Amino acid sequence: MSGASARLRFAPSPNGRLHLGHAYSAVLNARIASDLGGLCLLRIEDIDPTRSRAEFTQGIVSDLAWLGLSYPQPVRRQSRHMSEYRAALDRLVAAGFAYPCFCSRSEIRAQSCASDPDGAPLYPGTCRGLDPHEAKARRERGEPHTWRLDMTRALPQARACGELGFCTFDGGDERWCLVDPAPWGDAVIARRDVPTSYHLSVVHDDALEGITHVVRGSDLEAATALHVVLQRLLGLPTPRYHHHGLIEDEEGRKLAKSRGSASLASLREAGATPRDIRARLGF
Ligand code: GLU
Repeated sequence: MSGASARLRFAPSPNGRLHLGHAYSAVLNARIASDLGGLCLLRIEDIDPTRSRAEFTQGIVSDLAWLGLSYPQPVRRQSRHMSEYRAALDRLVAAGFAYPCFCSRSEIRAQSCASDPDGAPLYPGTCRGLDPHEAKARRERGEPHTWRLDMTRALPQARACGELGFCTFDGGDERWCLVDPAPWGDAVIARRDVPTSYHLSVVHDDALEGITHVVRGSDLEAATALHVVLQRLLGLPTPRYHHHGLIEDEEGRKLAKSRGSASLASLREAGATPRDIRARLGF
């Protein structure tokens, strides 16, 4: 691909302060964008109203600036674009690729003994066959519901324009990678509280922002299968993907705020410089 048009993005969720794993992804995105002679955007993925906090968004912006990374303005904040995601959802619903699901988490846990690639209970399809009139009446009564992708209907349509896969890149090497979305089952594409999900928003935004190369952690590699399906159903292009290895703690576990992994802010307070951080990450 010609470098001039390469567009990448670093897309953190503001539900905690950035740690070394985020720093690695942010610096790698910037490095690859620069190698390709392109741009890297910042996107704040704050669709989760319970976990996203304005102070974390502020923290992300200041940690990235401290690391020496700058981004074109304005920065897209997903929470300000819910109507766009709703429109994408409405298209999927109107085309018969999504249905409302009224099951609670505990009901699904009780009904399912298999897991999806994220380790969540695999949805057994309980609400897929609901009478449409009944489903409509329950929604009109305000019964909480998610929207799920009807994978059995979605797959033939998604496959109509060719085998499902994406182009993966690593340095100058590119190769085609086939994917199988079936292990996700009827994945949630819109949560109870907002008319979208990570999966729906990310494919919408990657296309809207003209992202050509997605560079993100290998923990999101399995989700790419679902993203390819949504891209095909919505008529969106599939970018190239590179899923990088995760930075681990001393015990070989993925860094996570929930495990108390040191934030960039605390490393900085302890005297680390941006140069120290980059060196520790191998840049
Ligand atoms: N917002 C996601 C996260 O913080 C990353 C999404 C992506 O890069 O596709 O894990």
